[in-house]
Amino acid sequence: MSAHLSYRLIPIMTDQQTSDKRTAPETSSGINSLIAAANKNDRFKLLEDDRVLAGNLENPIHPIFSWFDCDGPMKQMLHLASQFLAHDSVLIFFVPLLYGRELTRNDTRPRRTYLSDPLTHASDSERQEMLTGVRLALRCLAHSIEFRFMKPEKRVYARTLTKTAKAVHTSACSTIFQQRLIAVIEITDRFLRFYHCDDGYRASSRCAQFRHDFLFASTLIHEIAHAVGVMRRGNLMEPCIHVNDPDSEWGYAWEQFVFGCVINPQDRTKLGTNLLMRKVWGDAAVAEEAGGKEYSDVSMSYIAQWFRQETWDIIAKRGPTAILPPTAHFKIQSSRKYGAWIVSTDCIAIKPDLATLRQEWERQRASLDILSRRATTSSKIFWRFQDTEKLQKSNVPMPARVPWSSRKNQDGHQKAIRTSSKAALVSEPDSPSGQQTPMKGSISTSRKRKAVVDIEIVRVSKVLKV
Ligand SMILES: [Zn+2]
Repeated sequence: MSAHLSYRLIPIMTDQQTSDKRTAPETSSGINSLIAAANKNDRFKLLEDDRVLAGNLENPIHPIFSWFDCDGPMKQMLHLASQFLAHDSVLIFFVPLLYGRELTRNDTRPRRTYLSDPLTHASDSERQEMLTGVRLALRCLAHSIEFRFMKPEKRVYARTLTKTAKAVHTSACSTIFQQRLIAVIEITDRFLRFYHCDDGYRASSRCAQFRHDFLFASTLIHEIAHAVGVMRRGNLMEPCIHVNDPDSEWGYAWEQFVFGCVINPQDRTKLGTNLLMRKVWGDAAVAEEAGGKEYSDVSMSYIAQWFRQETWDIIAKRGPTAILPPTAHFKIQSSRKYGAWIVSTDCIAIKPDLATLRQEWERQRASLDILSRRATTSSKIFWRFQDTEKLQKSNVPMPARVPWSSRKNQDGHQKAIRTSSKAALVSEPDSPSGQQTPMKGSISTSRKRKAVVDIEIVRVSKVLKV
């Protein structure tokens, strides 16, 4: 099998590692202990919240997911994943992916390939026709995606590959896809093990189940966005979807579309899904200039709402922009300029807990000095009070979210102002050449990263030749 891989790598918590090794941190110091100090006694309800209601999703499970055990513990996760593919207001994301033409902008270096937006000038009936086509194409994926669970491989949570295959389609199928190709989505069996082990999913709290189901479901659709692309084009060279997207990662583009941010899990040392944090889908260099990439807290109440039918009724009518991104109560940056962590918050009560952490770091540093070992983390913590409103503002421009109305809404498309940024494009030696952007090379990217303290906690994709 000749195939390319699209890796989805997960949290890198390396503390001040400038080497190209993407290893787990040696100690819990760094961002995880900062988050723990800020959220002491779970004051922001990032782990447990008695007020959240049980899930009530009973929507049909999309045929794409029929490979999974639809009646077992994954049921709630599959209902959520299916909601992401159920409504016109969310399916609209896939229209440019399937119907956009590849265009090249010559005034950027390297030249940027992106997709036209067929919705811009579409009439209501053309729009409906394309949405019908999206539904047909997604049904086609039910017999042209293979799912597999794989052994955990470093920080890879999921990845998409291509595989040549005999014709799997019928005359009733969408003709928009490559005909002799299928997509393979590999998922870490970390997800699976939690559902089946004795002290896993069934023994967990409602909130812990929500976090795991949320991460799994959003990971599946993140990968399906890649799979739609490879089935359409026949390769893994993703152009940008919109001309001013910060990069060409279609999975992130989908997360930005639906959540208005990228949501990732923290501490991976325990089974299940630990608390979630979010970041802006923006340009890394611009973020560095602006004082460092910002990571903000994601409350359980935000996560829990996705499991309620009422939320989906709102999204069906008004689109995903009707659901506001999580309200941040603290933000963490690692500032190269100051060689320090910067914590911004609207809650003054966290200050003494940050001070305690700082003292602990100083003690650790002193004991390392005795051993003549270099400390691997900055022990400086800067603190900043910001009112709640100000705290919600990002330090970098972010792609505008496309508004939805049940009628033609090209105004939103035309007026969407997106950040203009240089794409950090990485050419993989094994990638086919071309003007398109290969799925962003995570390893190459991490080699280039020069931040003093590396708190990258993102999932990125990579193209590799098997
Ligand atoms: Zn088909």
